[in-house]
Amino acid sequence: MPRTRCLTGRCLALLLVSAAGAQALPTAGESFPSAQVAAGSRRVAEDLDAIVAFSADISGLNADRAGRLAAAHLRAHLALLFEARELTDRLWGDVQALAERDGDRPLLAEALQNRAEIALQAGDYRRCEDFVGRLAALPLPHSEATAELFRAVLERRQGRIDAALHHGERALGLHRALGDRLGEAQVLANLGTAMRDRGDYAKALDLQLEALTIRERYDEQTETSYRNVALIYRAIEDGDAAAIYFAHALEAARRRAAPSLLAPILGSYAGQLNDRERYEEALLAAREALAIDQAIGTRPSQGLERLEAGRALNGLGRREEAEAEFEQTLELGRELGQREIVATALLNLAGLAMDRRDRLRARALLDEAIAGLEFSQLKPQLAQAYQLREQLALSEHDTPAALRYLSRRSALREEMLGARTSRQLAALQVRHARRDSEQRNALLTKENELQATRLHNQKLERQFGLLGIGALLVVLGLVSWRYVGVKQRNQLLARGAIELERQRQVLSDANGKLERQAAELYQAAISDPLTGAYNRGHLIRQLDESIGDAERHGHDLSVLLIDFDHFKQLNDLRGHLFGDRALVVGVQAMRQWLEPGDLLGRFGGEEFLIVLPRSGGEAAWQVAERICEKVGDALRTLDPDGPARTISIGLASSSTVATRRLEVLLDAADQALYAAKASGRNRVIRYPSPTPLTRGSVA
Ligand code: GH3
Ligand code: MG
Ligand code: MG
Repeated sequence: MPRTRCLTGRCLALLLVSAAGAQALPTAGESFPSAQVAAGSRRVAEDLDAIVAFSADISGLNADRAGRLAAAHLRAHLALLFEARELTDRLWGDVQALAERDGDRPLLAEALQNRAEIALQAGDYRRCEDFVGRLAALPLPHSEATAELFRAVLERRQGRIDAALHHGERALGLHRALGDRLGEAQVLANLGTAMRDRGDYAKALDLQLEALTIRERYDEQTETSYRNVALIYRAIEDGDAAAIYFAHALEAARRRAAPSLLAPILGSYAGQLNDRERYEEALLAAREALAIDQAIGTRPSQGLERLEAGRALNGLGRREEAEAEFEQTLELGRELGQREIVATALLNLAGLAMDRRDRLRARALLDEAIAGLEFSQLKPQLAQAYQLREQLALSEHDTPAALRYLSRRSALREEMLGARTSRQLAALQVRHARRDSEQRNALLTKENELQATRLHNQKLERQFGLLGIGALLVVLGLVSWRYVGVKQRNQLLARGAIELERQRQVLSDANGKLERQAAELYQAAISDPLTGAYNRGHLIRQLDESIGDAERHGHDLSVLLIDFDHFKQLNDLRGHLFGDRALVVGVQAMRQWLEPGDLLGRFGGEEFLIVLPRSGGEAAWQVAERICEKVGDALRTLDPDGPARTISIGLASSSTVATRRLEVLLDAADQALYAAKASGRNRVIRYPSPTPLTRGSVA
C-alpha cells in the first residue's frame, strides 16, 4: 500500500476546511478538532469534486476517452488527498472501469490498489480480497508484491496468523527484489505485528525496529512504526519505554496534521493510559480516535477504540457504559470477522460478568474467547483469557480446573516472556540502545561543537580581556613612568632647591660676612684701633650732626674734652705699652657712665672727646665729675703702687657758647681743659671758666 498522499494535500485540506468554516461541518459527537477536520475534509472533497467534474464537462475534457480518464484520475486523486473514503472508492471505480476498457494496466493496478486499501480500512475484507485477487492477476512487477502484502494483512485481521506470516514472507522477498524500501518497511511492520500477536516479542521488536529504521530514513509513516514499537514494549510490560515511543508517535502524527494517521495512535495510546490507570485521559484519547475514525469511516480501528473506551469507563466505575462499549465492540468484531476484536471484547465482558459474580455468563464468554484465541493463537489475549478462567475456576472452587488454566497460562507466559525471549529481547534492547546512544553521541558531538564554539568565544573574550588588562598595564606603566619621572624631577628639584638653599645660605653667610666685614671695616674706619672709641673724623661728623639736631630741636648739647695728666711721664716711666693699656682702661671706665646716644671719640694722642647730645651744662657737669673720678680709680687699679694717674676735663655746653658752631664749641671745651690743667689737673672746668687761659700758658 504505497502512500500516495502528500503533505501539501493535507495542508490544502486543512486550509479548505478552515475556509469552509467549522460550524458547517460537525456532526453529532464530534467535539474533537481532529475529528471535525476529518469530517470537514470529506465535505470539502465532495464540493471540490463537484467543481472539478463541472469544469471537466464545460471544458470539453470529457469529450474523448483519454480526457475522461484523465479527469477521473484527477478527481480520484483529489478525493484521496482529502481522505474522503466513499467518494474516493467511487472515483477510483470510475478510473478502474475506464482503465479496464482502455487496457491501461498501470492505471488499473493503481485503481485496484487504492480500492483494496479503502476496503481494508472500512473492514470489508471480502471486497478487499476481490480487488487483491484482480490486482495479483495483472502481469505487472509490483502487482504480486502488493497483493501479497494485502493478503498478509487480511489473514492477520481474520486471526489466521500462520497464513499472514506466509504471505508476509513472500511479500518481503518480492519487495526486496524490486528494491522498494518503503514497501519493504510496510511488510516488516506487518510481520512484526503478526509476531506480536504470536507473543514472539523479540522477533516482533526486531522487525519493527528494522521497519522504523527505513521509515526514519525516508521520513514516511514513522508515527506508525513508533506506535508499533510502543505496543511491543506495552506487551512486555515496559511501560516507561512504551510511553517514550507513544510520545514520539503522537508528536510525529500531529506534525503530519492528518487525522487518519492520528486516530490509530491515539487508540493505542489509550490502551497504554488504561494500563497505567489514567482512565480519564484514556477515555479522552479513545473517544478522540473513535470520533476521527467515525468521520473517516475506518471501521476495524473503531472496535479497538471502543474497547479502550470501555476499559477506561470500567476503570472510572462506569460499568454500564463500559459494558455497552464492549457489546458494541463485540458486534463490530463479529460483523468484520476480526478475531482479535471479538476475543478482546469477550474477555472484557467476561471480566465485567465476574465482577458481577455472574459466573455462568462469564464462563460462556470466556469459553468462546478461548476457543477463538486458541484457533488464532493470539497469545497475549489467550494468556489473559487463561488467567480469567483460572480466577473463575477458583471462585467456583474447581481447583483442578484452576491449576490446569494456571499451568497453561504459565507455559504461555514462559513462551512469551521466558528466559529465551528475555535473552533475545535483551540483545535487541542492547542493539537499540546502541542506536540510541549513537543518536545521543551525535547530539553530544553537536553539544561539544557548541561547547567548543562557546569555549572559543570565551577564549576570545579572555584574550580581549587580557588585551584590555595589557592596555591597562601599559597605561599604568606610562602613568607610573610619568609618576617616577615627575618624582625624580621633583627629587631633582628638591635637591636643586636644597642646593639653592645651601647656595643661598652660603651667599647669605657670605653676605653676612661681607656685611660684618663691611661693618667691621666701617667700624674700623670710624674707630680708634687701640681703644675702640670713635676716631677723630667720625667723631667730628657725629658732633656736627648732633649740633644740628640740638639746634633743630632746641635742646642743649655738651662736650667734654678729656686729657690724661702727665702722660709723657707715664710712658717714660712704665713704657709705651703700659701707656696704651692705661688709655684702654681709662676709655672703658668712661663708657660705663655714658647713656645710649652719647658719643665717645679719640680726639688725638692721649686726648678724648665725649659728646652728650641732650645734656645741658649741669647734667654734663655731673657726668664729667663722675668720669674724672672713676677713670682715676681705674688707673689706680692698673698701677696701684705707682703715683696717682688722673685726667682733666674741659666742659662746654651749647647754651654757654656764643654760637652753636662746632669750632666754637670745641674751642670753648679746649679753653676749659686748659683751665683745668692750669688749676692743678685732676679736675673738671666748665666754660666759661672764671680765669680764661690759653694753651700756651697751661703747658
Ligand atoms: P700735661 O700734664 O701737661 O698734659 O703733661 P704731659 O706729659 O701729659 O703732656 P705732653 O703734651 O708733654 O705729652 C704728651 C705725651 O703723651 C707725649 C706723647 O709721647 C704721649 N703720647 C701721645 N700719644 C700716645 C700714645 O698713643 N701712647 C703712649 N704710650 N703715649 C702717647
Ligand atoms: Mg696732651
Ligand atoms: Mg697730657
